[in-house]
Amino acid sequence: MNENLIKSLPKAELHCHLDGSVPVKTLQELAVKAKINQQQFAKIQAPEKCHDLAEYLESFDVILKMLQTTESIEIATLATIQAAAQENVRYLELRFAPLLHLEQGLSVIEVINAVCSGITLAQKENNIHVNLLICAMRNHSDALNLSLLAELKTLHEKRVVGFDFAGDEAKVDNQKIAPIVQKALQNGLEVTLHSGECGCSHNVIEAIHLGAKRIGHGVAIKDNPKAMSICQQNNILLELCPTSNIQTDAIEDWQHYPLQFFLANHINCCINTDNRTVSNTNLTQEFLKLAQYCQLTIKQMLEVTSNAVQYSFASDELKKILIKEIEQIYRPYLENTN
Ligand SMILES: [Zn+2]
Repeated sequence: MNENLIKSLPKAELHCHLDGSVPVKTLQELAVKAKINQQQFAKIQAPEKCHDLAEYLESFDVILKMLQTTESIEIATLATIQAAAQENVRYLELRFAPLLHLEQGLSVIEVINAVCSGITLAQKENNIHVNLLICAMRNHSDALNLSLLAELKTLHEKRVVGFDFAGDEAKVDNQKIAPIVQKALQNGLEVTLHSGECGCSHNVIEAIHLGAKRIGHGVAIKDNPKAMSICQQNNILLELCPTSNIQTDAIEDWQHYPLQFFLANHINCCINTDNRTVSNTNLTQEFLKLAQYCQLTIKQMLEVTSNAVQYSFASDELKKILIKEIEQIYRPYLENTN
């Protein structure tokens, strides 16, 4: 599989953080307005190998300084979606933490509305469907995260389809966030949880017990047969983010990325960027490297893309349309390779 072919094929992405994915060119413009100097700006991309997840997350400190007004949030959302659409991502679930955008007086609702107006603009010009996942933060207090849920309850926005917890799971595990997750489920939100990103496979088991249907990353289960079988039995989807997992040292290198191991063991997976800018990648690059180092075939690319659509939090109607369209475009390539 070559880069042009991968780029041309329709794709779907479920794990993409808005703040970590704003194109560099757009951030350069926003940096001027936010008075970010060059030395600070250099931190928007994480090192290719970080000491740990905490070092990886440092990039967000500088990026978030540039995303504190409705105008900058709207511009950033539009540019991020355009970049995904340009590489033929047809369905995107964009996630972000509204509580991290309140430094200059915006409310949670104003932040979400700014993201939504960026989506509306992007969808007018591009063949892409976008829904939103709202992230609570592991380092925030229960009271703060509950206030976020209370705000969400007043918002009647169809594009907000799910809830997630982001942040350092090594410091705050899933037991500690259980009451907030339960409340989100009671409020009718679908749940996906970042878990098993940093060797904490027990966190994946806990996330499934809490009611998560999808797991952000989840790669740590590769060494835990019990966690693997719980994922199989509960029909869980792992949102794999290869470049990010290698950067945070969750996985040693591309040669050791466990995609084929998961597929052979009937673990449902999809492929994602996590953070297009912080990880200096896009979905085409993720698939290209998996083809180069992990023998990903075009048939498997269709499998993980279909998984992304089927396990997305989109409406059944949209899923049907997307699956039909995607399968149609893949069909001639599958016939040629078989
Ligand atoms: Zn993530």
